Amino acid sequence: MSYTFRITGKKKIKLKSFDPEYDAGLTREEADAKTAALCKEMMELQELLYAASDHSVLIVLQGRDTSGKDGTIRVVTGPLNSLACNVASFKVPTANELAHDFLWRVHQQTPGRGQMTIFNRSHYEDVLVVRVHNLAPKKVWKARYDHINNFEQLLVDSNTIVLKFYLHISKEEQEARLLEREQDATKAWKLSAGDWKEREYWDDYTAAYEDAINECSTKDAPWHIVPANKKWFRNLAVAETIVDALKPYKKAWLKKLDAMGAEEKALIEEFRREKQTTK
Ligand code: AMP
Ligand code: MG
Repeated sequence: MSYTFRITGKKKIKLKSFDPEYDAGLTREEADAKTAALCKEMMELQELLYAASDHSVLIVLQGRDTSGKDGTIRVVTGPLNSLACNVASFKVPTANELAHDFLWRVHQQTPGRGQMTIFNRSHYEDVLVVRVHNLAPKKVWKARYDHINNFEQLLVDSNTIVLKFYLHISKEEQEARLLEREQDATKAWKLSAGDWKEREYWDDYTAAYEDAINECSTKDAPWHIVPANKKWFRNLAVAETIVDALKPYKKAWLKKLDAMGAEEKALIEEFRREKQTTK
């Protein structure tokens, strides 16, 4: 059973076909218990990923303002060992970043072997905000879908497990969350007039997200549409998808660790034998 909708690009999607309120009939308590168990499993898998150092994991989080990118990072990937896990946030590009191709700043942040990286926004902004606000000519951003697909394929071919999540909230839910930020002193730091302005472009973003998801979903680097109106369901859905993606590698990682252990043991035994004979 999967709690996200995995898009592999075979069929074009429309976001309105996905219900942001979806919760698989679970209660919050049930979902939280499942999420906790999945996070524990994720920590064990991360340990193996790190020790075996054969693969990397790249998690791309995208979504409109207030969709829960920060919350997902805090709850789902927060418990991971920071020795081998980091977050890269992509903001408005600096002058230096703009002086390079759009993937330049992104490629520098991709995870090395054994590492996990979470992208809080990503190279997809270059076909989202850039398109919606005409920050580059259409010809330029349109060509980027192919560049993105080639880039992600390069990562996959280099043993990176690529998981892309679109946190799907409704327009009503966004309004409620923006208003909540105004009421809650602990959330007020996140207030941004820009968020209310961006909201005016809701339909343009919908079209931009649909194209990004349709153009850049592949078997190896699929998009996952996450029903995200309920934060606890969003957390569960993302946690489950990550664990499901890593589990198939568990056997191979354990085998590699066994082999590494056996090799070192043989070296230790050889060392002891040599020591004995020279006594
Ligand atoms: P936040 O995620 O709230 O910290 O905001 C980051 C802002 O940076 C968002 O408004 C993004 O749209 C913007 N941003 C990220 N990447 C790009 C990009 N490549 N071009 C223009 N704006 C960007
Ligand atoms: Mg923001």
